[in-house]
Amino acid sequence: MAIQYDAIIIGTGQSGPALADRVNREGMKVAVIERHLYGGTCVNVGCVPTKTLVASARAAYMARRGAEFGVNINGQINVDMKRVKARKDEVVGQSNTGVTNWLNGLENATLYKGHGRFESPNTVRINGETLEAERIFINVGARAFVPDIPGLEEVDYLTNSSMMEIDFLPKHLVIIGGSYIALEFSQIYRRFGSEVTVIERGPRLISREDEDVSETIKEILEKEEINILLNTQVERLEKRGSQVVVHTTGESGPMEVNGSHLLLAVGRRPNTDDLGLDKAGIEVDERGFIKVDDQLRTNLPGIWAMGDCNGRGAFTHTSYNDFEIIAANLFDNDPRRVSDRITCYGLFIDPPLGRVGMTEQQVRESGRKVLVGKRMMTQVGRARERSETDGFMKVFVDADTKEILGAAILGVNGDEVVHTLLDVMYAKAPYTVIQRAMHIHPTVAELIPTMLGELEPLE
Ligand SMILES: Cc1cc2nc3c(=O)[nH]c(=O)nc-3n(C[C@H](O)[C@H](O)[C@H](O)COP(=O)(O)OP(=O)(O)OC[C@H]3O[C@@H](n4cnc5c(N)ncnc54)[C@H](O)[C@@H]3O)c2cc1C
Repeated sequence: MAIQYDAIIIGTGQSGPALADRVNREGMKVAVIERHLYGGTCVNVGCVPTKTLVASARAAYMARRGAEFGVNINGQINVDMKRVKARKDEVVGQSNTGVTNWLNGLENATLYKGHGRFESPNTVRINGETLEAERIFINVGARAFVPDIPGLEEVDYLTNSSMMEIDFLPKHLVIIGGSYIALEFSQIYRRFGSEVTVIERGPRLISREDEDVSETIKEILEKEEINILLNTQVERLEKRGSQVVVHTTGESGPMEVNGSHLLLAVGRRPNTDDLGLDKAGIEVDERGFIKVDDQLRTNLPGIWAMGDCNGRGAFTHTSYNDFEIIAANLFDNDPRRVSDRITCYGLFIDPPLGRVGMTEQQVRESGRKVLVGKRMMTQVGRARERSETDGFMKVFVDADTKEILGAAILGVNGDEVVHTLLDVMYAKAPYTVIQRAMHIHPTVAELIPTMLGELEPLE
């Protein structure tokens, strides 16, 4: 006999717990299934730990630059990797405990620890029991994609998850992949003191970004002596003693990159392959992402997919926003939609990249009449005062409607400052509103109105 619930939530990523809380407050009996750690990727092996490591890496970087600021450190600067990990574990532990206590405190929720699998459109099997509900919400997230490289089985490799267990300094960390996760780790470990090599098969880093963004990020990382190999294909891997050898071919022919440790950071794949979706009849696309409509409904009535597994976003904020959209539609008679949201995300190297809306390439392809504003960080007082003048900010405006189309702020506090533009975009206000705003001196944000006052047609 199936155990009856009003709702079942599979996975406790960034939308599951919030939805469990809401469903609980609606007085519904809910089963929450989690196979590993409450809080999922972001809390345990994603955003929270990596940003904690970014902070430790920055402390090391600034300590080395001390003398430049008139701060002399008499003695060697060493990074205590055990302390770095312990601090990371403390911060992660607080977040994980927070989610765990939150879920445990929901009076109408029953928590199941184990792997959930659909048996039919309204039943889920977990630890030998069958649960049944009219509403099922999937929040199973994604995991590191492990490519099929010859020799992979003979070498030890790391992913974002196993990187979290490192409490020593890799002598030479070789990273396959040149996108967001790869670049964050590259700078973190370089600043800790490792030699770092990034191998990217494409002609530039983070190819989703504009060329000037990719190029400047490359310069920033190379200034810190991170080796970056572009246009470089990984052919095979080999274990040679305690070393891992990456055999590549590139512009200068075949090459061997000899590292002490190997990190694979070549993308993420949804955790949908072992979920019994076929038994329920839930449709996925060719990459395994669950197909959803603008309200995150799957092809079956009463089943929704939220977060990374639906392919409609790959961020903590998109997953949480998925929860908000579903809750608004189900309980608040508020027809919120995925298409209401504006793309935004950060790349948390130092200095960070904050991105909103369209890229330059996208505005060009849109065929609109576009105005552009650009300002180098060398022209930003706050950046000069901090001796951190790498990067630039740029913004695109629709010449006819005067609405802001997109922006990239690569530089000191770029991840925060970009929200001044994002909020005006949500307000659908013309750029002149923010151009006339008086901002605080001396900040990075004070130059946003100035930049908007100097717009020129996009050539
Ligand atoms: C290294 C790294 C850094 C990142 N940094 C950022 C960042 O700075 N900012 C940002 O916005 N995003 C970042 N992300 C992305 C972010 O972590 C995810 O987008 C976010 O966690 C949303 O995930 P989710 O809600 O889809 O599910 P997840 O957080 O992936 O959680 C899914 C949960 O479901 C469970 N599960 C899966 N299958 C089953 C099953 N069959 N039965 C039971 N339980 C199951 C899993 O154990 C997991 O706990 C980062 C990701 C990584 C890997």
